[in-house]
Amino acid sequence: MVEKKCCPLCHQVGENVPNIAVRHLVLEDLIKKVIDKENYYVCINENCNVVYYSSNNKNTFYEKHVKVPVWFKKRANPKYICYCNDVTEEQIIDAVLNNDAKNMKDIIRLTGAMKNGQCELNNPLGKCCSPVILETLKKALDSK
Ligand SMILES: [Zn+2]
Repeated sequence: MVEKKCCPLCHQVGENVPNIAVRHLVLEDLIKKVIDKENYYVCINENCNVVYYSSNNKNTFYEKHVKVPVWFKKRANPKYICYCNDVTEEQIIDAVLNNDAKNMKDIIRLTGAMKNGQCELNNPLGKCCSPVILETLKKALDSK
C-alpha cells in the first residue's frame, strides 16, 4: 500500500507521481532539489497553485516552477492532453467537430497524439495520456 498524503496548501489528497516525472518537469535550476529517496505527490485540485509536493513537506513545487502548463489546473493555457506530441484539448475537440473523428484511431491519425509516447517523463501525472484523450473524445462526441 502506498501512503496517501494531502497537499500542504489546499489539504486535498493528491496522487502519487513518479520521481522521474517531477525531475523532468520542474525548471532546470530546481532539478537538484528533487530528492531521490523521497515520495512525490501531485495536487489534482484545479484551483490550487501547488503541482508537486513531497512526503516530508519540504519540497513543494508550484505551477510557476513547472515547465509546462498543467492541464488539470484551471489556468492551464493551452490545455495539453498529449504532452509527448503537444496535442491540446482544443485540437481533439476540433478533430471531432470539424473533421468527423469518431474514435481513438481517428484522433491519433488527425492530431498525431500518442506517437513516440514517453508519458512517464512528459505528462505531469507521470502516466499515459490515453484515458484523458478518450474522455475528451467522449465529451466532444456527446456535445455534437
Ligand atoms: Zn493543493
